[in-house]
Amino acid sequence: MADSGILYVVATPIGNLGDITARALEVLTEVDVVASEDTRVARKLFNRYEIETPLIAYHDHNEAEQSVKLIKRLQGGDSIALISDAGTPLINDPGYVIVKNCQAAGIKVVPIPGASAVITALCAAGVATDQFYYGGFLPAKTKARCDILAGLLEREYCSVYYESTHRILASLNDIQATLGTERHIVIARELTKTFETIKGGPVGDIIEWITADHHQQKGEFVVIISGAPKVSALDDKSKALLVTLLAHLPPKVAAGIVADTFGLKKKEVYQFGLSLS
Ligand code: SAM
Repeated sequence: MADSGILYVVATPIGNLGDITARALEVLTEVDVVASEDTRVARKLFNRYEIETPLIAYHDHNEAEQSVKLIKRLQGGDSIALISDAGTPLINDPGYVIVKNCQAAGIKVVPIPGASAVITALCAAGVATDQFYYGGFLPAKTKARCDILAGLLEREYCSVYYESTHRILASLNDIQATLGTERHIVIARELTKTFETIKGGPVGDIIEWITADHHQQKGEFVVIISGAPKVSALDDKSKALLVTLLAHLPPKVAAGIVADTFGLKKKEVYQFGLSLS
């Protein structure tokens, strides 16, 4: 039996056709066939880079049968590249079935990294990103959406969702209803395209802004919801004493008394005191 070919999982641009790597172009040119979500979309990319590799459709509706056929071709020695309409395959796009089947059959899978809307949005959002949760698309129905959003009430790191033009306003309203008007969010619209807009602020302000300008509701969106503000260990009584003492004593001394009185960490009380000035 011939050696198996390789399945390359290739990221393509999320808008600007210039955002493709040299390695991706090389692979798309050299493989035997490219399996693409929509061959018409792929054709635009191929025309731009004069790629003539044959295209076949691989999408949500034919993923199961097509992956069986493609595995046979791989086992026969063909090499195949998998692409989606935009960004990285498998990130809310088809590809899981064939990658899983290749791994099970011992066929080599090689990722060719590149654009993905989630990472593109995060790197320009201005929110803390050392840790984040990616939730794909929020559910279409309000009840299910609010149930998911309620899980963010105390999450201290940011959460990222994909959203469509049809639901952006409804989702923002549900974020406000569930997490409050002041929760900081960022919406990243039409990334890498002509009308790219990245706007952050309290969700209440973002709703006002997007409602006032309907153009801002058009296109593709990434919504980043910042983590919940850290809850202070100081309750109303300890805060009140601290405020009183700060009027008469140096901050370190005031913080020491409050910490001793309420069994709190002096450093935390001191830092809270600084945030008041
Ligand atoms: N595989 C893609 C990726 O790696 O980002 C995601 C595909 S998913 C079907 C499409 C969604 O991704 C859009 O509805 C939108 O939420 C987000 N998206 C894709 N391109 C985008 C862009 N240029 N600007 C903002 N969001 C985008």
